[in-house]
Amino acid sequence: TSFGFADVGEGEKQTRVNDVFHKVARRYDIMNDLMSGGMHRVWKDAMITALNPPKSGSWRSLDVAGGTGDIAFRIVEASRGNADVTVLDINGSMLEVGRDRAEKRGLADRLTFVEANAEELPFEDGSFDAYTIAFGIRNVPDIPKALGEAHRVLKRGGRFLCLEFSEVDMPLLETLYEKWSFNAIPQIGQIVTGDGEPYRYLVESIRKFPNQENFAALIRQAGFSRVTYTNYTGGIVALHSGWKL
Ligand code: SAM
Repeated sequence: TSFGFADVGEGEKQTRVNDVFHKVARRYDIMNDLMSGGMHRVWKDAMITALNPPKSGSWRSLDVAGGTGDIAFRIVEASRGNADVTVLDINGSMLEVGRDRAEKRGLADRLTFVEANAEELPFEDGSFDAYTIAFGIRNVPDIPKALGEAHRVLKRGGRFLCLEFSEVDMPLLETLYEKWSFNAIPQIGQIVTGDGEPYRYLVESIRKFPNQENFAALIRQAGFSRVTYTNYTGGIVALHSGWKL
């Protein structure tokens, strides 16, 4: 199937992305578990281990495309309540679910929710010690612009971490994974949310995203130093890391 995402402009792409997440916001968390077989939890935990937020001293982190708060909650918990995390997302419906969850977990006082675009961050230069983005960058129409903004809002010595679907480097796993993503994921979406189309789009957006090396090059071009990546689950997901030095 084709829904012409390749030939739509950037504004149109963002509108479609927004529609997807408005539609799925309330079912987003359960869908993540179903679609990834719970693996998204393992990948997110690994990201937080890599970040290793300090357990004392003032430390501010920005989680972009933070959605319903999964990364931000983990950062606050790993810092034993020390970190201040700003959750930024372009979609008010996702942030609303995030706010409710934060209240229920008693984490709300460490979190700030901001509705804004990753391409135009409403913060001053050098505001944060760390910038995280999980399963978000591939939805952003102008990726170099978002990376430039990440670099701008970080302090010198600040850390950039990005978790995203990537290129599978094991042939057998790749075959299984393709079957799963093109057949099962839209069907699960259809059953759970009543609409398979948004999930067809999500799968398509994974295929179009640059592979590990090409994405690392974009991060370097944005000005980051010591750029590295780690594959998880045979490259289904990769964690990219960079520093503003
Ligand atoms: N980080 C969360 C997680 O890992 O569970 C949510 C990931 S969800 C797949 C992608 C999120 O990116 C959505 O909440 C969507 O609203 C957000 N998003 C899409 N385009 C964006 C943009 N231009 N700026 C900020 N957020 C954006």
